[in-house]
Amino acid sequence: MITLKSPREIETMAAAGRIVAETLALVRRHVRPGVSTEELDRLAEDFIRSHPGARPSFKGLYDFPATLCTSINAEVVHGIPSAKRILREGDLLSVDVGVWLDGLHADSAATFAVGRVGADAERLLHVTQEALAAGVAQARAGNHVGDIGHAVQQVAEAAGYSVVRELVGHGIGSSFHEEPQVPNYGKPKRGPRLMPGMTIAIEPMVNLGGPEIRTLDDRWTVVTQDGSLSAHFEHTVAVLPDGGPPRILTTAD
Ligand code: MG
Ligand code: MG
Repeated sequence: MITLKSPREIETMAAAGRIVAETLALVRRHVRPGVSTEELDRLAEDFIRSHPGARPSFKGLYDFPATLCTSINAEVVHGIPSAKRILREGDLLSVDVGVWLDGLHADSAATFAVGRVGADAERLLHVTQEALAAGVAQARAGNHVGDIGHAVQQVAEAAGYSVVRELVGHGIGSSFHEEPQVPNYGKPKRGPRLMPGMTIAIEPMVNLGGPEIRTLDDRWTVVTQDGSLSAHFEHTVAVLPDGGPPRILTTAD
């Protein structure tokens, strides 16, 4: 079932989204060679809990043990922060974070360069952000979920990359994962119709090589099958009544 949110609920999600955006900005400022992903996780958890009424969405969700998902290089998503995972010059670090505030969630992700990265990594970051922007632009009342996925897929594949298919974006609200699923591929005018008050997380996962993934023995970390680099960017957005572009809720602006 797709739930529509009231203007007041959307304001609460925007307040959660602001904390999410500020958490990502805080993490970004601490990303450098020599830092462990566990240190970043602790910073993020302390920052989120410093806001009255707020807590990390991920910790305990399906028994995930941490505040952040930290996924390095060929890791696509769901990497578990660890004192043993030390960032190195040239790594790509995907950071995914959710915040629950007063009963509602917001969800965002960004991929950061650790120090100087190669040209192929820089281009992957740029294209994945462009793919997210193209998908967000389609989240208008009257469009369909397939319009979002189609736009994301077009940008990624035009650059010679592939999109992960087994993992998708999602509705979000009082539950972290709600209907509808929002794939990063699709056909225009297919799938559920977008309506004002829908809140969805759009999250392209783009691989430099093939689209295939597998899950490591820790039962969380998802990696590219071919070992190629992967990037992940995500925003939570609200579909607006006027048919225009959506409101991005996971921003500090
Ligand atoms: Mg996320
Ligand atoms: Mg998400």
